[in-house]
Amino acid sequence: WKQAPPSLRVLAQMVRAYGAREFTIYQDERVSFEANYRATSHLAHKLAGMGVKKGDRVGLAMRNLPEWPAIFFAGMAIGAIIVPLNAWWTGNELEYALKDSGTKVLFVDGERHERLKQCYQALPDLEHVVVSRAKGDVEPPALALESLIGGANDWAALDDVGFPDAEIAPDDDATIFYTSGTTGSPKGALGTHRNLITNILSSAYVAARTMVRRGETPPPMPEPKVMLLVIPLFHVTACSAALMGAVASGSTLVFMRKWEPELAMEIIQRERVHATGGVPTIAWQLLEHPARANYDLSSLETIAYGGAPSAPELVRRIHQEFGALPGNGWGMTETMATVTNHSGEEYLARPTSAGPPVAAADLKILSIEGDRELETGEVGELWARGPMIVKGYWNKPEATAETFVDGWVRTGDLARLDEDGFLYVVDRAKDIIIRGGENIYSSEVEDVLYAHPAVTDCALVGVPHKTLGEEPAAVVHLAPGKSATEAELQQWVRERLAGFKVPVRVRFVQDVLPRNAQGKILKTELRGLFAGEAAA
Ligand code: ATP
Ligand code: MG
Repeated sequence: WKQAPPSLRVLAQMVRAYGAREFTIYQDERVSFEANYRATSHLAHKLAGMGVKKGDRVGLAMRNLPEWPAIFFAGMAIGAIIVPLNAWWTGNELEYALKDSGTKVLFVDGERHERLKQCYQALPDLEHVVVSRAKGDVEPPALALESLIGGANDWAALDDVGFPDAEIAPDDDATIFYTSGTTGSPKGALGTHRNLITNILSSAYVAARTMVRRGETPPPMPEPKVMLLVIPLFHVTACSAALMGAVASGSTLVFMRKWEPELAMEIIQRERVHATGGVPTIAWQLLEHPARANYDLSSLETIAYGGAPSAPELVRRIHQEFGALPGNGWGMTETMATVTNHSGEEYLARPTSAGPPVAAADLKILSIEGDRELETGEVGELWARGPMIVKGYWNKPEATAETFVDGWVRTGDLARLDEDGFLYVVDRAKDIIIRGGENIYSSEVEDVLYAHPAVTDCALVGVPHKTLGEEPAAVVHLAPGKSATEAELQQWVRERLAGFKVPVRVRFVQDVLPRNAQGKILKTELRGLFAGEAAA
């Protein structure tokens, strides 16, 4: 190696320190740090052999499987740009991103292979497809991953072959993560190696801060933990915070084929899991699960999440009912995950905040027009700056110029900062409800609804009104066996907030609300529930 990429340098260090420790656990496959490293280096040679060069895109469309990190690091080791693709996307959506990114080599699992195989022909840049866990034989020209490096349980026996020579600088391109597509079509955020490793420092620092608050002395490095990873690696939080965090701290990641709350509890008990979370829904589903009492969840130390608004009610319940520390962080695909975070007592004291900025980030709040900086406490658009901010969007010069300005990213989120610099996200600029000139931030009303004992899931959306422009309406899912009427919930909000914030309609739904892969409520769909019901 002339110059190894930063994340591989960290990986190599940790192999030296923790070689035999388990790095990933997936069903009966247990992969040590050493075995993962060997698989990574073998695969790096195979990729070089396929003609992958610096800057070429390597796509990765699969569930959270042990091969995911090996492929990710192997591609980066030779300077390829890794394109993690959303495994829940349909064939068409995957095809869009593969075309958009110009992917040259694609790694898929058996399921994605079935979904995609008829469109490989239509992808002009695609030269190789490698399938892992294929259902049946892999037909050439596609290759089976197992034919290249064997199955996960074989990796420990692979020879040490080192890495192909490469020269990769921290500011070289490393990843294209697609945004969640909550407000439009997903955009590919082009991140560098430096962006990717910034989270290591951010997570280490928040853990240390929590300990200092409690009067404890933090260890010089974050301690190895067992994490149950229930969010997908194709989202930045899982990849750059959880995966990179595990690499840097010698921690073990337990993967699940798919999210199932009861199976999660079984795994937490069996593997003595210390940390889980990801998005607020996960925590809610664990809390509300009827079989919770049957499991020993006492090993849980933290449940941290971000990516979507969460209610103060959740913070309190995690602490009281799990005896675990709740944590929250704000970030976006464009910031390679964490920009603010806090946990434990800090979060309990400010349960509506997403925490202060991480050590390397700056925040500011500008007027919506972007022409002036606002005072402490005023709500405006959040802008962020720091070594975690990506270069821009892949293939989208206009969106890049609009969003990335002088080293800052304009987030599209409405927020305020308090006198200690803690961030409070109140809404997305696109979701704010303006009722006859009065601003209603959905999170404020949602937090109040969540505090009602019968409500477990809810969202506030604007419905059109002839003279007022918009009015707030709520969509609510009640806890099993509990009841509440529209009038009761309206009264509940009226007792706690200004009259103009009371939802004019409450619609009860049987299921939890529709969310995208990242656990974000799809408000556009919910607005449709009220279509044609013009208010009086
Ligand atoms: P798209 O940009 O394609 O519309 P998206 O914005 O949902 O999709 P992501 O990058 O996954 O894509 O999500 C970032 C957004 O998630 C932020 O802009 C913010 O609205 C929301 N978010 C992230 N963390 C938090 C948090 N802790 N509290 C509230 N909202 C959060
Ligand atoms: Mg966004």
